[in-house]
Parts: sequence; structure tokens; C-alpha cells
Amino acid sequence: MSDRFIYLDHHATTPADQRVVEAMMPYFAQHFGNPASLAHRYGWIAKEAVESARRKVASLIGARPAEIVFTSGATESNNLALQGAADAFGTPGHIITTAVEHACVLGACRSLERRGWSVTVLPVDRFGMIDLPAVLEALRPDTRIISVMTANNEVGTLQPVEEIGRLCEERGILFHTDATQSVGRLALHVDAVRAGLLSFSAHKMYGPKGIGALYVRSHRPRVGIEPMMHGAGHEHGLRSGTLNVPAIVGFGVAAELAGTDLLPEAERLAELRNELQRRLTALEGTSVNGHPVRRLPNNLSITVDGVSAERIITAMGTVA
Ligand code: PMP
Repeated sequence: MSDRFIYLDHHATTPADQRVVEAMMPYFAQHFGNPASLAHRYGWIAKEAVESARRKVASLIGARPAEIVFTSGATESNNLALQGAADAFGTPGHIITTAVEHACVLGACRSLERRGWSVTVLPVDRFGMIDLPAVLEALRPDTRIISVMTANNEVGTLQPVEEIGRLCEERGILFHTDATQSVGRLALHVDAVRAGLLSFSAHKMYGPKGIGALYVRSHRPRVGIEPMMHGAGHEHGLRSGTLNVPAIVGFGVAAELAGTDLLPEAERLAELRNELQRRLTALEGTSVNGHPVRRLPNNLSITVDGVSAERIITAMGTVA
């Protein structure tokens, strides 16, 4: 049995890339200015670093830089998306989401429910997919928001977000997608998905923790959201608070790196995953969870029924 530790939990978080860490370092003590301090050099340098990172983060998802709101991570982005959009609508309506969303989406929906919104939580099939006809059936005249994740963080299943986006566009419904697990793993373009709001996070793509983004569509139909965090009006007034410049710089570099070799990296990961899957499913009592094809390239979720940990580790061997 190998005494090496193998980290297989990259959906929970990834290590920061060394290039990300190095890019962040000067922004702690050397270029420490507040990007909102526009009266002096310290502020200008910080502001330029933030705007450069914003361009890189936007470019990864095909957005315009002004459409990116930096947040503390996808939890905040999802809350800001749903609560902010609900506040902008003014009066309560109906929201459709799925049973497999991250707790922050489901929690935000529950909070909207307490404020008079009605929420439909759609079930998924045995592959973790939602059914498009079920979405159509759930529609009501007052349906205002549909929130469906791009990819699931446990079983990796990819939802039919392009179809849902189209359906929303045709009916004037706001489409939000939690793309935390797919940005940086799959080619994802906000316009192809027709998302009005899209959430993601740096630490799932070799960036630092505690920094994320919410894409808010500025072109037609423009999406309006209200802030949750009130203050001095940072991030177009949508997320006040002094910006975390080192983390934003790190996010920018992580986005740039992810965009550089997205497809070859996805292929490499899928090959490794397939090999691991082949070895593990050779054991009796194992079965693959999630969708066999429509899933993240870096995901493998396996049910192990009555197989000892030792046999699993032996079967895994070294997949590299
Ligand atoms: N959504 C999904 C799908 C996630 O996997 C996660 C992280 N587990 C989050 C949201 C929350 O992200 P963060 O840690 O950046 O708040």
C-alpha cells in the first residue's frame, strides 16, 4: 500500500497555482494601495491591477469587464444574484430551481420564500439531470427567475443550460446559473448560455480562496440587481467594501491560465478520469454516479458497496 497522499477533492478546492501566488505577493505590502484612492499613485497602481484582472476574468467567460462584480466567492455571488434580482423585481414572483443546487442557492431561495416568493424545486433523474419538459411544466405566468447550475459539484453532471437559457430568453425570464464547477474546466460563454447572471469562484480553478465573481449582463436585455452590501459604492454600487486586491490579481492570473489550455487540459483530465474509472469499476460492488457522458472531465463519483478501502487503493495504482 502506498504511503503517498493523493488529493482527489478538487471540487472542494484546488491548490493555488504557484504563478498565481507569485503574482499576488507584491500586492500585499508593496502595491498595497486602495483601488478607490484615485488621488495618488498607490491607488492608481492597485486600480490598474484590479482592472487588468477584471479583463482576464471577463474574457474567460466571454463577458465584458464591466459585467464582472467581484465578490468573496460563489456563495456570495449566488446570494447576490438571487436576492439582488428579487429585490430589483420589487414584488414577489415565482422562481424555479433544482434539488441538486449548492446549499447557497437553495438557502437563498428559502430566504426568498420567507419574503413572499414561491419556489419550485425540480427533481433530477437518476443521472442527476433535470428534465426540460418538467421545466416547461413548472412555468407560471409570474415565473421571473430560473436558477440551474451548469455542473454539479458532487456527481459532475452537466445540466442542459443552453436549452434552459433559450427557454428563458424566449419568455423574458431571468436565467441564473451557478457555474462554479465549470468555469475554467469547460469552454463556457455567457452569451451561448444566455445567462443574465452567472456565478463562479477563483479557488475552484487554482486561484485563491475568498474571491469570486458574479457576471451581470449589461447588454439587452440588461439585468438589474440590487446590492446586498451597502456602503461606499464599490463594484458599480453592487458590492461595497474595499477590494481584496491580491486575491483579485490572483483570480485574474488563474483565469488567464485556465483559458490558455482549457481544451487540452480537459482532455487530459478526462483520460485520467476514464482510466481511474476503468480500474475502480473492475471491482465488484462499484458503480458510477452521475451522467455517464454529460459530466465534468475532472469528475468521478463512485458508489462503493462492500469493497474494502485497501482493495480500492490497490486497484487505483498510479494513474498519471
Ligand atoms: N456552488 C458550487 C456548485 C460549489 O461547488 C461551491 C463550492 N463548493 C459553491 C457554490 C460555493 O463556492 P465558494 O466556496 O466560493 O463560496
